[in-house]
Amino acid sequence: MAATIANNVAKSVSREVTRYAAPVATAAATAAITGAVQNSMQQRAINQAREVEQRRELRDLYAKLAICCYIAHADGAVTDAEKRELDMIYREISEGYSNIPEAKNELTKIYNNVTPDFVFVEGYMNMANPDILASFLTLAEAISRADSSVSENEDRCIYNIKKYLTDRTGKNYLRNVVLKDTSTDLVCPGCSATMKLDKYNNTLTCPYCGQTRYVEVKYT
Ligand SMILES: [Zn+2]
Repeated sequence: MAATIANNVAKSVSREVTRYAAPVATAAATAAITGAVQNSMQQRAINQAREVEQRRELRDLYAKLAICCYIAHADGAVTDAEKRELDMIYREISEGYSNIPEAKNELTKIYNNVTPDFVFVEGYMNMANPDILASFLTLAEAISRADSSVSENEDRCIYNIKKYLTDRTGKNYLRNVVLKDTSTDLVCPGCSATMKLDKYNNTLTCPYCGQTRYVEVKYT
Protein backbone atom coordinates (compact mmCIF):
# COMPACT_ATOMS: atom_id res chain seq x y z
CA MET A 1 0.00 0.00 0.00
CA ALA A 2 2.73 2.40 0.97
CA ALA A 3 4.55 1.51 -2.20
CA THR A 4 1.44 2.20 -4.28
CA ILE A 5 0.97 5.59 -2.68
CA ALA A 6 4.60 6.37 -3.19
CA ASN A 7 4.33 5.17 -6.78
CA ASN A 8 1.27 7.34 -7.40
CA VAL A 9 2.97 10.35 -5.90
CA ALA A 10 6.01 9.68 -8.04
CA LYS A 11 3.85 9.34 -11.17
CA SER A 12 1.97 12.48 -10.35
CA VAL A 13 5.21 14.41 -9.78
CA SER A 14 6.54 13.03 -13.02
CA ARG A 15 3.36 14.15 -14.83
CA GLU A 16 3.70 17.59 -13.33
CA VAL A 17 7.35 17.78 -14.32
CA THR A 18 6.51 16.71 -17.86
CA ARG A 19 3.62 19.14 -17.97
CA TYR A 20 5.80 22.06 -16.96
CA ALA A 21 9.24 21.02 -18.09
CA ALA A 22 8.44 20.82 -21.79
CA PRO A 23 7.06 24.33 -22.11
CA VAL A 24 9.88 25.67 -19.93
CA ALA A 25 12.46 23.92 -22.09
CA THR A 26 10.76 25.15 -25.26
CA ALA A 27 10.61 28.68 -23.88
CA ALA A 28 14.29 28.48 -22.98
CA ALA A 29 15.17 27.27 -26.45
CA THR A 30 13.03 29.98 -28.03
CA ALA A 31 14.62 32.60 -25.81
CA ALA A 32 18.06 31.34 -26.73
CA ILE A 33 17.26 31.58 -30.43
CA THR A 34 15.45 34.93 -30.31
CA GLY A 35 18.16 36.18 -27.98
CA ALA A 36 20.81 35.21 -30.49
CA VAL A 37 18.85 36.84 -33.30
CA GLN A 38 18.33 39.94 -31.20
CA ASN A 39 21.99 40.02 -30.29
CA SER A 40 23.05 39.77 -33.90
CA MET A 41 20.52 42.45 -34.89
CA GLN A 42 21.79 44.59 -32.05
CA GLN A 43 25.37 43.96 -33.15
CA ARG A 44 24.46 44.94 -36.71
CA ALA A 45 22.80 48.11 -35.48
CA ILE A 46 25.86 48.89 -33.36
CA ASN A 47 28.13 48.27 -36.35
CA GLN A 48 25.97 50.48 -38.56
CA ALA A 49 25.95 53.24 -35.96
CA ARG A 50 29.72 52.87 -35.64
CA GLU A 51 30.12 53.24 -39.42
CA VAL A 52 27.97 56.36 -39.47
CA GLU A 53 30.15 57.70 -36.67
CA GLN A 54 33.33 56.72 -38.53
CA ARG A 55 32.17 58.50 -41.69
CA ARG A 56 31.51 61.62 -39.63
CA GLU A 57 34.98 61.34 -38.06
CA LEU A 58 36.44 60.86 -41.53
CA ARG A 59 34.95 64.12 -42.78
CA ASP A 60 36.86 65.90 -39.98
CA LEU A 61 40.02 63.93 -40.76
CA TYR A 62 39.85 64.67 -44.51
CA ALA A 63 39.72 68.36 -43.64
CA LYS A 64 42.62 67.99 -41.21
CA LEU A 65 44.79 66.22 -43.77
CA ALA A 66 43.84 68.83 -46.38
CA ILE A 67 44.86 71.60 -43.95
CA CYS A 68 48.23 69.91 -43.32
CA CYS A 69 48.86 69.48 -47.06
CA TYR A 70 47.82 73.08 -47.68
CA ILE A 71 50.32 74.39 -45.10
CA ALA A 72 53.08 71.99 -46.13
CA HIS A 73 52.78 73.06 -49.77
CA ALA A 74 52.57 76.78 -48.93
CA ASP A 75 56.19 77.38 -49.94
CA GLY A 76 56.06 75.27 -53.06
CA ALA A 77 58.39 72.45 -52.08
CA VAL A 78 57.49 70.14 -49.21
CA THR A 79 60.44 69.71 -46.84
CA ASP A 80 61.54 66.29 -45.56
CA ALA A 81 60.21 67.06 -42.08
CA GLU A 82 56.85 68.08 -43.49
CA LYS A 83 56.73 64.99 -45.70
CA ARG A 84 57.36 62.74 -42.70
CA GLU A 85 54.49 64.42 -40.84
CA LEU A 86 52.15 64.08 -43.81
CA ASP A 87 53.10 60.43 -44.40
CA MET A 88 52.43 59.61 -40.76
CA ILE A 89 49.02 61.35 -40.74
CA TYR A 90 48.03 59.70 -44.03
CA ARG A 91 49.08 56.24 -42.82
CA GLU A 92 47.41 56.53 -39.42
CA ILE A 93 44.06 57.57 -40.85
CA SER A 94 44.17 54.97 -43.65
CA GLU A 95 44.90 52.18 -41.20
CA GLY A 96 42.41 53.35 -38.58
CA TYR A 97 39.56 53.44 -41.10
CA SER A 98 40.52 50.53 -43.35
CA ASN A 99 36.98 49.11 -42.94
CA ILE A 100 35.49 52.11 -44.78
CA PRO A 101 36.04 51.33 -48.48
CA GLU A 102 36.10 54.87 -49.86
CA ALA A 103 38.36 56.31 -47.13
CA LYS A 104 41.69 55.37 -48.69
CA ASN A 105 40.75 56.81 -52.11
CA GLU A 106 39.69 60.12 -50.63
CA LEU A 107 42.80 60.32 -48.41
CA THR A 108 45.05 59.50 -51.38
CA LYS A 109 43.33 62.18 -53.45
CA ILE A 110 44.07 64.78 -50.76
CA TYR A 111 47.60 63.53 -50.10
CA ASN A 112 48.52 63.49 -53.80
CA ASN A 113 47.33 67.02 -54.54
CA VAL A 114 50.58 68.94 -55.03
CA THR A 115 48.87 72.31 -55.36
CA PRO A 116 46.28 72.35 -52.58
CA ASP A 117 44.94 75.90 -52.56
CA PHE A 118 42.51 77.42 -50.08
CA VAL A 119 39.47 76.57 -52.23
CA PHE A 120 40.50 72.90 -52.17
CA VAL A 121 40.83 72.96 -48.36
CA GLU A 122 37.61 74.93 -47.96
CA GLY A 123 35.69 72.16 -49.75
CA TYR A 124 36.74 69.72 -47.04
CA MET A 125 36.35 72.19 -44.18
CA ASN A 126 32.75 72.85 -45.24
CA MET A 127 31.95 69.19 -44.55
CA ALA A 128 33.75 69.12 -41.20
CA ASN A 129 32.89 70.22 -37.68
CA PRO A 130 34.36 73.74 -37.26
CA ASP A 131 34.97 73.32 -33.51
CA ILE A 132 37.04 70.22 -34.13
CA LEU A 133 39.00 72.03 -36.82
CA ALA A 134 39.61 74.95 -34.48
CA SER A 135 41.09 72.71 -31.80
CA PHE A 136 43.22 71.11 -34.50
CA LEU A 137 44.74 74.43 -35.53
CA THR A 138 47.29 74.30 -32.72
CA LEU A 139 48.67 71.10 -34.21
CA ALA A 140 48.48 72.55 -37.70
CA GLU A 141 50.58 75.47 -36.55
CA ALA A 142 53.10 73.06 -35.03
CA ILE A 143 53.30 71.27 -38.37
CA SER A 144 53.86 74.59 -40.11
CA ARG A 145 56.83 74.98 -37.78
CA ALA A 146 58.17 71.51 -38.53
CA ASP A 147 60.70 72.99 -40.94
CA SER A 148 61.83 75.26 -38.06
CA SER A 149 61.28 78.49 -39.95
CA VAL A 150 57.80 79.84 -40.37
CA SER A 151 57.31 81.52 -43.67
CA GLU A 152 54.94 84.32 -44.45
CA ASN A 153 53.10 81.96 -46.82
CA GLU A 154 52.50 79.46 -44.05
CA ASP A 155 51.35 82.24 -41.74
CA ARG A 156 48.95 83.32 -44.42
CA CYS A 157 47.55 79.77 -44.67
CA ILE A 158 46.90 79.67 -40.93
CA TYR A 159 45.39 83.11 -41.10
CA ASN A 160 43.06 82.02 -43.95
CA ILE A 161 41.84 79.04 -41.92
CA LYS A 162 41.30 81.14 -38.78
CA LYS A 163 39.45 83.70 -40.85
CA TYR A 164 37.28 80.94 -42.36
CA LEU A 165 36.43 79.55 -38.91
CA THR A 166 35.69 83.03 -37.60
CA ASP A 167 33.34 83.75 -40.50
CA ARG A 168 31.65 80.37 -40.27
CA THR A 169 31.09 80.20 -36.51
CA GLY A 170 30.96 83.82 -35.41
CA LYS A 171 33.61 83.02 -32.78
CA ASN A 172 36.72 85.10 -33.05
CA TYR A 173 39.49 82.63 -33.87
CA LEU A 174 41.66 85.58 -34.86
CA ARG A 175 41.83 86.82 -31.30
CA ASN A 176 45.27 85.29 -30.74
CA VAL A 177 46.61 86.95 -33.82
CA VAL A 178 49.14 89.55 -32.84
CA LEU A 179 49.13 92.54 -35.08
CA LYS A 180 52.56 93.93 -35.77
CA ASP A 181 53.27 97.44 -34.54
CA THR A 182 49.66 98.40 -34.24
CA SER A 183 50.53 101.21 -31.86
CA THR A 184 52.71 102.98 -34.37
CA ASP A 185 51.02 101.88 -37.55
CA LEU A 186 47.64 103.49 -37.10
CA VAL A 187 48.54 106.77 -38.78
CA CYS A 188 46.86 107.12 -42.16
CA PRO A 189 49.47 107.59 -44.89
CA GLY A 190 46.94 109.67 -46.82
CA CYS A 191 45.74 112.24 -44.30
CA SER A 192 47.59 111.40 -41.07
CA ALA A 193 44.36 110.73 -39.20
CA THR A 194 44.16 107.71 -36.93
CA MET A 195 43.05 104.66 -38.87
CA LYS A 196 40.46 102.30 -37.48
CA LEU A 197 41.57 98.74 -36.85
CA ASP A 198 39.31 95.87 -37.89
CA LYS A 199 40.82 93.01 -35.96
CA TYR A 200 38.58 90.39 -37.58
CA ASN A 201 39.75 91.26 -41.05
CA ASN A 202 43.19 92.53 -40.10
CA THR A 203 42.63 95.73 -41.98
CA LEU A 204 43.08 99.39 -41.18
CA THR A 205 40.58 101.84 -42.60
CA CYS A 206 40.76 105.60 -42.44
CA PRO A 207 37.40 107.07 -41.41
CA TYR A 208 38.27 110.35 -43.17
CA CYS A 209 39.80 109.57 -46.54
CA GLY A 210 38.77 105.93 -46.77
CA GLN A 211 42.24 104.46 -47.25
CA THR A 212 42.39 100.79 -46.43
CA ARG A 213 45.36 98.58 -45.94
CA TYR A 214 46.03 95.06 -44.87
CA VAL A 215 47.90 94.60 -41.60
CA GLU A 216 50.49 91.86 -41.61
CA VAL A 217 50.04 89.36 -38.84
CA LYS A 218 52.40 87.21 -36.87
CA TYR A 219 51.66 84.31 -34.58
CA THR A 220 53.02 83.83 -31.11
ZN1 LIG B 1 43.11 109.13 -44.21
